[in-house]
Amino acid sequence: MSQRTFSIIKPDAVRKGYTAAILAAIEKAGFQIASIKKQSISKAQAEGFYAVHSARPFFDSLTTFMSSGPIVLMVLEKENAIADLRKLMGATNPANAEEGTIRKQFAGSIEENAIHGSDAPETAAFEIGYWFAGYELV
Ligand code: GDP
Repeated sequence: MSQRTFSIIKPDAVRKGYTAAILAAIEKAGFQIASIKKQSISKAQAEGFYAVHSARPFFDSLTTFMSSGPIVLMVLEKENAIADLRKLMGATNPANAEEGTIRKQFAGSIEENAIHGSDAPETAAFEIGYWFAGYELV
């Protein structure tokens, strides 16, 4: 059964001009783009999105980074979308990411790591609802 996940092309990758290459990798892997938009987000919006990480030592740095420039927000759809996108993204730290993954190819550091993808069905539902209205999903 088809599943939806939520993804962000992070500000580092947008700044470096990797948006199209990352979208191409996502489509090549069989994902349908149910919705996509480019926008700059505020620090407060980033803090709400990453609220589960609020106790982590990198929370302030992460939310400053995520609000440092335009990002591309997407809802992606395919069978097994959540796990398959995580696999395509690679490890959080690009130094540990497998060859051919998006983070191996495009990420610069453990924080500026090019792409976000939901890690479970409950987080995907929260994240899609946080950034998209139902009528925006096609
Ligand atoms: P993900 O699911 O692979 O994105 O990783 P996490 O959910 O653990 O962390 C969320 C995001 O926080 C990561 O994608 C990174 O941008 C950032 N992050 C994670 N770990 C660290 C860290 O140890 N230091 C810093 N500065 N940022 C981190």
